[in-house]
Amino acid sequence: MKIGVLALQGAFIEHEMILKKLGCEVAEIRQLKDLTSIEGLVLPGGESTVQGQLLLKLGLLEPLKERITKGLPVLATCAGLILLAQQIETQNTNYLGTLPVTIRRNAFGRQISSFQANAAYQGLDTFPMTFIRAPYITKAADEVQILATVNDHIVAVQWHNQIGLAFHPELTDDTRIHEEFLKLSF
Ligand code: GLN
Repeated sequence: MKIGVLALQGAFIEHEMILKKLGCEVAEIRQLKDLTSIEGLVLPGGESTVQGQLLLKLGLLEPLKERITKGLPVLATCAGLILLAQQIETQNTNYLGTLPVTIRRNAFGRQISSFQANAAYQGLDTFPMTFIRAPYITKAADEVQILATVNDHIVAVQWHNQIGLAFHPELTDDTRIHEEFLKLSF
């Protein structure tokens, strides 16, 4: 199975390592031709403003949007989730905008900008979650499935082919969320 990992900026290598461990072929996505024959897409953490600008500049924004809308399975973590969100608080514009949620960037505040939590994740018992200047979801459309909350804030969702996480599963040895992602097909 060939999975594309957006490799413009941020924590993409860690995702690649997990995907390879799970037997996937990995394609680093930096230009349009890299999208050929991928069966899934990972949007890594990093800095969403930088990634968003690069997507636009490289002509990747619209093609990715189209593929995701047509059902390409996506696993988005942290900044990746911000790229997917239909609405970003305090911003008038979005990036891919394919996931019907509202997101608040750097939402956990400066004092606890990075932390770990072992929290319930739907279908997986608990999951070790690493948050780094993480966002959370403040509003989700009715059909969006909430997979995890931390301190009553939504930190993981699924909507059809899109899984969005506020935390970084690629920074732990726990591969279960990537395995769930690889089971998606639409
Ligand atoms: N704070 C970053 C942003 O707003 C996201 C942080 C992350 O991906 N770890 O894009």
